[in-house]
Amino acid sequence: MKPEITFFPVGNGDMTLIKLESERTILIDTNIRVPSDKIRDVAEDLRKSLKTDNKGRPYVDVMVLSHPDQDHCRGFEEHFHTGPLENYSDKANPKKIVIREMWSSPLVFRRAKKKTHTLSDDAKAWNCEAKRRVALFRQVGTIGSDGDRIVIMGEDCDGKTDDIMEIVVKAGETVFKICGSIEPNFSALLLAPMKGTDDEEEEVLTKNNSSIIMNYSIGAGTNPTAVRYIDAGDAEVAIWEKLWDRHEKNVSALQYNLLNTPHHCSWHSLSWDSWSAKKVEAKVSDRARKALGQALPGAVIVASSDEIKDDDNDPPCYRAKQEYEEIVAEVKGEFWNTGAYQTPDKQEPLKFEVSVGGMKRVKFAVAAAAALSANSGLGATPLYHGGEAS
Ligand SMILES: [Zn+2]
Repeated sequence: MKPEITFFPVGNGDMTLIKLESERTILIDTNIRVPSDKIRDVAEDLRKSLKTDNKGRPYVDVMVLSHPDQDHCRGFEEHFHTGPLENYSDKANPKKIVIREMWSSPLVFRRAKKKTHTLSDDAKAWNCEAKRRVALFRQVGTIGSDGDRIVIMGEDCDGKTDDIMEIVVKAGETVFKICGSIEPNFSALLLAPMKGTDDEEEEVLTKNNSSIIMNYSIGAGTNPTAVRYIDAGDAEVAIWEKLWDRHEKNVSALQYNLLNTPHHCSWHSLSWDSWSAKKVEAKVSDRARKALGQALPGAVIVASSDEIKDDDNDPPCYRAKQEYEEIVAEVKGEFWNTGAYQTPDKQEPLKFEVSVGGMKRVKFAVAAAAALSANSGLGATPLYHGGEAS
């Protein structure tokens, strides 16, 4: 199949599904709210997008939680199975979704707890399941099977992950496997979380909404980097400055064809100044702008947020949107806002299809990528040619 990336409309929150050429699925975050006239039933959209296993259970191969804020894990307890797979209940309606492999970061959890002092029930449920899987690994000493797998993104502090390095990916390392097997036409570079070099820096990183940040290479046909997609949770300005310092001499780590704006198009990912207080005086951080500005020709930037309006709100912030629009204008790309797609009153998942020659927007349809129709407003030609992406 042609790989796909779908951004579900979840207001100020994130919920993104990647389908690879092999049909493996990676779900990044979830913000499932109670559906209404204005709120789309994204849980139904998700279930219809997933395959079921030989026991009829819907599943994702990988689920990543960028960080444990509620707008990134809402609905987790209700919609996802936790605990050993043999305890799966067929009675739940709709059926709970199995997570074959979790990608989780104890360091991000530690920072979130320090910052907010409390975790939601959904975040606690994720954390509890992650701990169960790590405990199982420690106990058995092997990685286990689907439903028990976990990969730890980023070393934890104080040597807490030193004994389980077999399942730890450090910042700067690349993941090539999904559920224990090398995945063709796929890799994912872990950019963050990074450990602070001292207590002071650790404090700054903690305050800046630390998140898992990955640059996913989604390949198609003969092109292993047909789309490079950066997903960044709610990472704020200090983290982007640090990423620029780390990668400015080799920017390929930060280059993308597709970027999900950090923190729902928040101004605080681009600037240390308050937008509402300083308005036009608010300055963009040069280093953060460079880190977020490595757009490849034809790149697309998506703001997963409420509709962005010309007002004082943040996030989403109108001024941040302007900055991102400037970035894509430089490469003849596009900017999209999930809160206004296709219209603010009738939101649809924003879906892109990947082929060897590039990436294009397609209509969200469950069974198969719908053919582009002239009246759908969708571009018929790829936004960029994948061969230019490396
Ligand atoms: Zn958020």
